[in-house]
Amino acid sequence: MVDLKGQYDKIKEEVNAGIQECLDNTAFINGPAVKEFQKDFEQYLGVKHVIPCANGTDALQIAMMALDLQPGDEVLCPAFTYVATAEVIGLLGLKPVMTDVTPDTFCIDTNNLENYITPRTKAIVPVHLYGQSADMEKIMAFAEKHNLFVIEDNAQAIGSDYTFSNGEKKKTGTIGHIGCTSFFPSKNLGCYGDGGAIMTNDDHLATKIRMIANHGQEKKYYHKVLGCNSRLDTIQAAVLRVKLKHLDEYSAARNLMASYYDENLSGIPGLEIPVRAANSTHVFHQYTLKIAGDRRDELQRYLAEKDIPSMIYYPLPLYKQEAFMRYVPEGFNLPVTEKLCKEVISLPVHTEFNQEVQDYIISEIKNFFLN
Ligand SMILES: *Cc1c(COP(=O)(O)O)cnc(C)c1O
Repeated sequence: MVDLKGQYDKIKEEVNAGIQECLDNTAFINGPAVKEFQKDFEQYLGVKHVIPCANGTDALQIAMMALDLQPGDEVLCPAFTYVATAEVIGLLGLKPVMTDVTPDTFCIDTNNLENYITPRTKAIVPVHLYGQSADMEKIMAFAEKHNLFVIEDNAQAIGSDYTFSNGEKKKTGTIGHIGCTSFFPSKNLGCYGDGGAIMTNDDHLATKIRMIANHGQEKKYYHKVLGCNSRLDTIQAAVLRVKLKHLDEYSAARNLMASYYDENLSGIPGLEIPVRAANSTHVFHQYTLKIAGDRRDELQRYLAEKDIPSMIYYPLPLYKQEAFMRYVPEGFNLPVTEKLCKEVISLPVHTEFNQEVQDYIISEIKNFFLN
């Protein structure tokens, strides 16, 4: 699905030098590269504070912990997302309230969010799924009206730009009160292990988040609040410093692959190419097709026989996962989420464009549909 080896080969010298420097100065925890990466990333995103942490799931959990929510408070999140988004809500004794998504952008549907509001609703977590932004202008207006915190799950869309109706552009992850991202190796900005970060423009929240990620202490051995231990390794920060410089180039390469798929796969009956949101750039963390008529699994088996990898993100709505059933009444069902779980399939998309390989994938998909 990704070509991390090909990507590494091109930046090998710089990455190796960065890692070597960590080994030479043995500052494995909170070494200089962590602060340097933090600064670089703040500048890239145009955000006041980046707080690096151990992974994207921790980022979401720490963000949620910083909001002083009470057990039983409700947090809205899409039902069509990676488990981490809702998992941290439940872990903190809060109630994930799962909402539907739109069939075109796969992001949270802003049209009937009002239906989910109760006196206990305190926050909303839009997920910028597959690489493009949820409709943040509508989400921010909705949140303001109902006095909700907005935590963006930006694990899949780092580098994407959202454009407001007045023309103002912001990077995804810097629009809500807090943004979260993951540096898992296969993410668009991935390190060589686990990593994550939290973004905010709010000084007060930044102080609190930094404290929570560090055992609830501002001063060593004096603990103000219950926190956790969540740090970005110095070695991972050194890798990320190098890769951040290439992020826009990587997004462009992913777009090139996506456009090539678009050109060659559009107009095939039973197959729908991805829709690009009007107000967001797409960084194509995933290139995801919709396959109608119950043929998706058949297509996946066919591709597997031809040695073409593909993935189903995600095969089961969150509310049908055993761990989450307790949060919904029996028979709970969100129609778009249900349909997408049966129709989506993601194709390989990465930064090392190889036309021959992509032509092979395209020709086999055409064979499946047209022969
Ligand atoms: C990857 C991902 C996460 C979690 O990131 P980890 O670093 O693996 O903990 C959270 N949300 C979404 C939408 C993701 O894709």
